Amino acid sequence: MTTSIPDTPTFIPPNNSLTHDGWSNEDEATATCFCGKVQIVFPLKSPGLANTFLCNCTDCRKVTASMFATNFTTRDSHTRFSRGEDHLTLFVQDQTTTTGKNMINGFCKTCGTLMYRKSEGFEGMKFLRVGTVDDFKLHDTVLKPQHEQFVGCRVGWWSGVDDAKKYEKMME
Ligand SMILES: [Zn+2]
Ligand SMILES: [Zn+2]
Repeated sequence: MTTSIPDTPTFIPPNNSLTHDGWSNEDEATATCFCGKVQIVFPLKSPGLANTFLCNCTDCRKVTASMFATNFTTRDSHTRFSRGEDHLTLFVQDQTTTTGKNMINGFCKTCGTLMYRKSEGFEGMKFLRVGTVDDFKLHDTVLKPQHEQFVGCRVGWWSGVDDAKKYEKMME
């Protein structure tokens, strides 16, 4: 079964996570893991929402088990857990990051969804994952990547994000 996106201001698919309690409003929205045990409330406006970007780097391929990551950056001061912060496994390493700095990866202990990454190089910020956002309308609107980085590592069968500002390596 496929889910088509209806022409409505918000759209949370009925089968989106096992808890069915995602929401969005003008200012904030939820990101929930696959099983529903972890849920983050994040801001939709600046300055809380700092950036939206797609990354083709080798690290992002491996950590997403896909060809790129669709991320958005939020300030910790505007981001909170509605549940499950203590239900994350935090995996930290600095061996594969392009900056050489520690990257924290927060995975749900039950379903393994990567809920956020956090770099020592970006104090007070988290990189959240567009795919975990419950309101699918936001994937196409507010959270559409404005920047695309590491285009030099992009897989050959895809031509990138229309209209996004491109960077050969990490965006400045
Ligand atoms: Zn989970
Ligand atoms: Zn990356």
